[in-house]
Amino acid sequence: MPYYHIWTIGCQMNKADSERIAGYLERIGYEAAPRVEQAEIIVLNSCVVRQSAEDRVRNKLNALSSIKRGKILALTGCMVNSRVDGLRHRFPHVDIFFKPQAFLEFWQFLVERELAPGELKPDLLLPLKPAPSAFVPIIQGCDRFCSYCIVPYRRGRERSRPVEEILCQVRWLVERGAKEVTLLGQNVNAYGHDLPQKPDLAYLLDQLNQVDGLARIRFLTSHPRDMSDRLIEAVARLDKVCEHLSLPLQAGDDDILRAMRRGYTAEQYRELVERIRYAIPGVGLSTDVIVGFPGETERQFERTFDMLCQLRFDTVHAACYSPRPGTIAARKLVDDVSAEEKTRRREKIEELQEGIATEINSQLLNQTVEVLVEGRKKGKWQGRTRTNKLVFFADDGDPLGKLVNIRVEKTSPWALQGSLAHENGG
Ligand code: SAM
Ligand code: SF4
Repeated sequence: MPYYHIWTIGCQMNKADSERIAGYLERIGYEAAPRVEQAEIIVLNSCVVRQSAEDRVRNKLNALSSIKRGKILALTGCMVNSRVDGLRHRFPHVDIFFKPQAFLEFWQFLVERELAPGELKPDLLLPLKPAPSAFVPIIQGCDRFCSYCIVPYRRGRERSRPVEEILCQVRWLVERGAKEVTLLGQNVNAYGHDLPQKPDLAYLLDQLNQVDGLARIRFLTSHPRDMSDRLIEAVARLDKVCEHLSLPLQAGDDDILRAMRRGYTAEQYRELVERIRYAIPGVGLSTDVIVGFPGETERQFERTFDMLCQLRFDTVHAACYSPRPGTIAARKLVDDVSAEEKTRRREKIEELQEGIATEINSQLLNQTVEVLVEGRKKGKWQGRTRTNKLVFFADDGDPLGKLVNIRVEKTSPWALQGSLAHENGG
């Protein structure tokens, strides 16, 4: 059987796109290559949200030139913009560039080379064997235009998928073994505003909650501006919707938030977190922050730091600001915080968060948590709690895809370790 290889970096949306491409290739007879050298088709799914991600893609592309010989090399993801000529010039060994969501171009390319059948039935795009936890994109693109962010330029305006289409896909996945779905969108809670009936995310969650056999529903990423009370109420009420929200703060200083064009103040964000925690007790909260945004003073950084101290998130992704071509910040503002200073600020946040996560997770010691088993790593089974805590445990059986109760025996800032609890009947 011929082999393929897909390399992915970036957000969950990229992972979902890669799963779709892998699903298609497997359905037409390809198999995942044990080693990249053996692959006949190589797809790189790129990210350009920060310069560091773009550098990794470039290095990967350059490294592949030495093993290219006769292989098909495709580049997709946010590195591919409307002007492909520049990319062609820089990477002449790449055979095809296609934008995210332009899968048809890739398919046509394969058909022309007689590497794929000339008919594309919709079910060819579904995975052969869905994972216990599956990604389901529900809205593409972003209309928000935060001043630092390249996503709206590369992924276009918001386009929601119809409710019925999403329901069909989820039922299909569940019939084949999926237990959990994560609904994806760069701004997932803007879902539906562009559809004729204007359904919202709360309505979609309500519909999905009724799918038999589905155990858990998640969604990300939420924009604080679009986190309505109706949505918070739906998360609190619907039994399958997990108590976990990804709610990027980005900064704790109002002037920086304004320059970022985030559309909320630090106080509004704080109140939102209070409302969420009141309505959804025990909710796990993740956030993103950017340090070293143009003009960010030490005092302004301290406001972000203090807010993280006070709000005590379960996870924080801190990133150094990176000017992205074409964005408002890159065009109008000077990237005046040095790389060393950005790193210092990021590390200060990481150190703070390590302490906070250590304390939060240690409260789970000797507790029993429900885990959906998603796979194996380093000889242990791995899964997540409803609040999105990563859990590892040993078991000689085959619990893959099952919901099991795990008694937590060890905690760290990043994960929990435990063993099957007696509640499982074992
Ligand atoms: N839509 C989400 C939101 O509202 O924040 C996040 C999507 S964005 C692609 C993922 C994360 O990348 C952001 O939360 C932000 O922290 C980070 N990011 C985006 N642009 C960046 C930039 N120019 N420099 C550094 N980090 C950036
Ligand atoms: Fe980028 Fe802002 Fe859209 Fe998130 S909401 S994808 S940060 S523009």
